[in-house]
Amino acid sequence: MANVRLEDIKRKFNNVTAIEDISFEIPDGEFWVLVGPSGCGKSTILRTIAGLESATSGKLFIGDFLVNNIPARQRDVAMVFQNYALYPHMTVAQNIAFGLQMRSFDPKTIQDRVLTVARSLSLEHLLDRKPKQLSGGQQQRVALGRAIAREPQVFLLDEPLSNLDAQLRDDTRAELKQLHQKLGITTIYVTHDQVEAMTLADKIVVLNNGRIQQIGDPQSIYARPANRMVATFLGSPPMNILPSKFQDNAFDVGGQLLPVADDIRLLLKPQQGQGFDLGIRPEHIYLNEPPRRQGHQEGELGELEVEVKVVEPLGRETLIRGSLVGSSGVLVNVQAGADVRLRSGDRLTLELDMHQLFVFDASTGQALY
Ligand code: ATP
Repeated sequence: MANVRLEDIKRKFNNVTAIEDISFEIPDGEFWVLVGPSGCGKSTILRTIAGLESATSGKLFIGDFLVNNIPARQRDVAMVFQNYALYPHMTVAQNIAFGLQMRSFDPKTIQDRVLTVARSLSLEHLLDRKPKQLSGGQQQRVALGRAIAREPQVFLLDEPLSNLDAQLRDDTRAELKQLHQKLGITTIYVTHDQVEAMTLADKIVVLNNGRIQQIGDPQSIYARPANRMVATFLGSPPMNILPSKFQDNAFDVGGQLLPVADDIRLLLKPQQGQGFDLGIRPEHIYLNEPPRRQGHQEGELGELEVEVKVVEPLGRETLIRGSLVGSSGVLVNVQAGADVRLRSGDRLTLELDMHQLFVFDASTGQALY
């Protein structure tokens, strides 16, 4: 096992800069998730660590060794891809054994390791099958098994669950987490799925446009996003963003006024008349539901009027999508109880927990509060 350190890594493809200023250090044994929208550079970082791409500049260390010029095969990392990449003519056992045979392990060690790995992934009964006789989830477990059998120093996983259906993805995600807890191998996992990032990671690296936006543990990134991009990327349904103007000590949201807490008012005092994007998560907006409002003092809740556009019952709760009255096109998502009786076209007043409000600079998107 080993720590992995990137120092100012950059990768250009002709004149396209795929990643820039990428620096972080993953301590030995931790599970880190690189997350971000399509094209943000996640796979390029992973492939650079694997040795499948070379950095245009910067330094990459695995353990204490600078590996920029070490070929992929000698880096002692194992990569699992989205498409499994199993050998179709080999059985499950042969697929798992392949990497060990290539490294000239003795037959007894290979046999023992294949069995141990197969047991840890519940594949014992499938060892004689060929990949095409397996389900997608089973194939993915074989791909993981092949990587684990080598006992690499670092595990690299590139969207390994994205070809699985929803239920299988949830199950395999939980298995992966258990496997990491058992093996403790330093793992770097790429996904665009924020649920995978939140549930699996010791630390999340949020990327956008080839640059790191924020690094932190899931809870702190969720609670204190560094900017609007991170705030809206993590969380489902996503954080609501309300364009506003700070005026006369209130936020003017399309003609509707929200009160400003004392500490925010002090912070923004010199910026009267300027635009800010307000952020509030759907779980911090209330319908007229007395139990959820209990405990709030006068003035802690701001009111906004919306017209209901879509009502989505999800069983345990209902997702309401409303359009802000007076601001064309500003949509507000609200997570409400299971038993709400609303229809498209209804008008209602929402109550916002003003203690849970984020304020972003409207042009840079940086979180100000
Ligand atoms: P996705 O989630 O869609 O796989 P990603 O976040 O993994 O995206 P990368 O595949 O790392 O993104 O790509 C980052 C940027 O680099 C993109 O703009 C992509 O078009 C570009 N890029 C990646 N590989 C190459 C290449 N071989 N040649 C030219 N441009 C490339």
